[in-house]
Amino acid sequence: MALKSSIEWTDATWNPVRGCTKISPGCKHCYAETFAERFRGVPGHPYEQGFDLRLVPEKLNEPLRWRSPKRIFVNSMSDLFQEGVPTKYIAAVGRVMQHANWHTYQVLTKRHERMRELLSDKLNWLSRIPHVWFGVSVEDREYGLPRIDSLRKTPARMRFLSIEPLLGNLGQINLAGINWVIVGGESGHGARLMREAWVMGILRQCREYDVPFFFKQWGGVRKHEKGRLLHGRTYDEAPTIRGERSAHSLAI
Ligand code: SF4
Repeated sequence: MALKSSIEWTDATWNPVRGCTKISPGCKHCYAETFAERFRGVPGHPYEQGFDLRLVPEKLNEPLRWRSPKRIFVNSMSDLFQEGVPTKYIAAVGRVMQHANWHTYQVLTKRHERMRELLSDKLNWLSRIPHVWFGVSVEDREYGLPRIDSLRKTPARMRFLSIEPLLGNLGQINLAGINWVIVGGESGHGARLMREAWVMGILRQCREYDVPFFFKQWGGVRKHEKGRLLHGRTYDEAPTIRGERSAHSLAI
């Protein structure tokens, strides 16, 4: 979809699926829905059908044409593991990721049950590819903690959490088996508040578990005003492409 992405933790986005349905409080102000619905009914526009679920097979081979290595966020405008996406199609997406192995793929979902089921069984081959990372979105304790537990039990070479929008205090979280944590607040119209203490609680636990921590943004109605400094500095830690931890300061 986009050779360049403005999302801080990736380089490019790839959307072989478009559209989704809401399943938890983190979806309330879904940016993908807001964007897609703006173009509903515009003839010939990629989002002519708004945020309705559609497979986009003509986009499948896009990463094969991108010659320089990139971190690619898979389905930034959808959720690959939603019910309406056939297993055969998820396998086709997987085969492209397997083939175009000079990239690193970041597959993020809220449908942790289906991801776990497929990677444990029919699509187990996909779980063994080192340059394909699997993550779940986390917004609060009620919905987020079961997703983290499920991800931990999902076969994958690299597991990550996108804790955005962070809507409440997560308290104690088990980060065993998790390789990367991204945290961010909600942005845009009606953005819900994220408290500093909640972020610091997650950072502290990342330090305890030795997990790289990436602070994406404070968010808010005008997110550029609030920026992405936490205690006067940025946190851009990430695993390296081969899964080692990148060099960073451990000072909080
Ligand atoms: S799962 Fe993601 S893409 Fe789907 S509605 Fe929720 S926030 Fe939007």
